[in-house]
Amino acid sequence: MKYDRIYNFSAGPAMMPESVLEEIRDEMMNYRGSGMCVMEMSHRSKVFEEILHEAEADLRDLMGIPDNYKVLFVQGGGTLQFAMVPMNLMKNGVACYVETGAWSKKAIAEAKKYGDVHVVASSKDRNYTYIPDCSDLDIPDNTDYVYICENETIHGVTWQTLPNTKGHVLVSDQSSMFLSQPCDVSKYGLIWGGVQKNVGPAGMAVVIIREDLLRDDLPSYVPIYMNYKTHADSDSLYNTPNCWAIYCCGKVFQYLKRIGGLEAMHQRNIEKAKVLYDFLDSSKLFKGAVEKEFRSLMNVPFVTGDADLDAKVVAYTKAAGFENLKGHRTVGGLRASIYNAMPKEGVEAMVECLKKFEAENA
Ligand SMILES: *Cc1c(COP(=O)(O)O)cnc(C)c1O
Repeated sequence: MKYDRIYNFSAGPAMMPESVLEEIRDEMMNYRGSGMCVMEMSHRSKVFEEILHEAEADLRDLMGIPDNYKVLFVQGGGTLQFAMVPMNLMKNGVACYVETGAWSKKAIAEAKKYGDVHVVASSKDRNYTYIPDCSDLDIPDNTDYVYICENETIHGVTWQTLPNTKGHVLVSDQSSMFLSQPCDVSKYGLIWGGVQKNVGPAGMAVVIIREDLLRDDLPSYVPIYMNYKTHADSDSLYNTPNCWAIYCCGKVFQYLKRIGGLEAMHQRNIEKAKVLYDFLDSSKLFKGAVEKEFRSLMNVPFVTGDADLDAKVVAYTKAAGFENLKGHRTVGGLRASIYNAMPKEGVEAMVECLKKFEAENA
């Protein structure tokens, strides 16, 4: 590979498209004649405002975001959103959550600090290896929203059909699937994603929120920074934003437009994931950890069934240049995160390595 780079299967921060890194390198010392690096610019300067507005416009274009939604660039990563969502959206103090794995569990734990949380469905009974049927949930009339984690990064399950919210606002954590496939934004009240999984550098979340959910009447103890309206009213420039992350994400948005948008990206992701899943389905040693119907295109947990052998696989693949295949510390086993920027050749080469391991350990 160029630059001696490796295939990095990390769950995040993760790979970025090589052409994007090259563009960033080329603009590092002097961004388009400004005489400055983007890291050195005032966030109030005209040149940075252009970067910000272009990033937002490109994202709107990519996702087809309707005009009655705001796009916010918020610091604090994904975790801050676990608190910002209930702080801003709990008007009646009631919310419904679907428990499908580690990240929805964290969201539930945080939301409980702010109100009455109903866990309306859970896949805990089979260790979070599927998405429960959510076509007829028991949703109280006064619920403020229904919350899902649309792709569970650690457990490797993805929603195929959105829940029937019975007219209530749908909130989705799309962190580990953001921009991996087309998305009908109008079905949601709020979508958020930490960008370090599928888009850019760590330290920021993109929030897409329907305008009528912005509020003037939050309790006074809610920090100014944590009111979505603060960011909406100031075009994400209330305070100094994560300028660098916005710039890098903007580059990735342009890259996605160049390759044909989210439809084209989705096709690539389907083909790429198929290489790995087909191997897992044919292997005698390795097997996928989740139910087929709910398999994630982004995060692929798999096991040999023997923890010592799993550890051996991690060491073996690492020595061959495939980094970060160890499963999350809470679930063990193996996991390959194959986000947008992972090339198909990377998955093919890694699968060859697993085949070799299997042959040697038969
Ligand atoms: C990584 C991740 C988060 C948390 O993001 P941080 O930026 O580390 O706080 C939340 N939800 C999902 C689905 C994630 O993958």
